[in-house]
Amino acid sequence: MRRRVHSDEVKAAALQKLAERGVTIEDIAEIAYVMQSPYNKGLTMEDCVASVQKVLEKREVLHALLVGIELDTLAEKGLLSEPLQSIVESDEGLFGCDETLALGSVLGYGSIAVTTFGYLDKDKIGVIKRLDTKIGKGVHTFLDDLVASIAASASSRIAHRMRDEEENGNAQVNAG
Ligand code: MG
Repeated sequence: MRRRVHSDEVKAAALQKLAERGVTIEDIAEIAYVMQSPYNKGLTMEDCVASVQKVLEKREVLHALLVGIELDTLAEKGLLSEPLQSIVESDEGLFGCDETLALGSVLGYGSIAVTTFGYLDKDKIGVIKRLDTKIGKGVHTFLDDLVASIAASASSRIAHRMRDEEENGNAQVNAG
């Protein structure tokens, strides 16, 4: 019989895989901080950690993490079939499925998430740079893009929340 998987199980598994691959929530929050602090003077790391945690509640984000990390791990063990094994293992530049998988999970967070993801794909910072297989060891073909997508979504959440707060603040000033 087919087993129905509970969301809590998906979340726990995705977070565990992320940790096993050496990525912390703080690592991702740091990227969101770098991306958003120029626009939001009062932004704190705690805000960014909270935003990343919110993004990590979304089922499509968790599913993308499970798929991507699984493929990275299988490639690392040499368990994929050819030619996929060589493509993923060598992080072939024109592969594109790693970016596409990650991009899918930012779409729900609006255009700021999409443009920030595009920026991080070109200009790898923080943990994304560390995950780049050309520098570190291990296969992180999917993980670097997934981390960028979570950071991009968290950045977009922050930008929208700040704007909302600003408008509510102004509304109060106007009312008073
Ligand atoms: Mg990649």
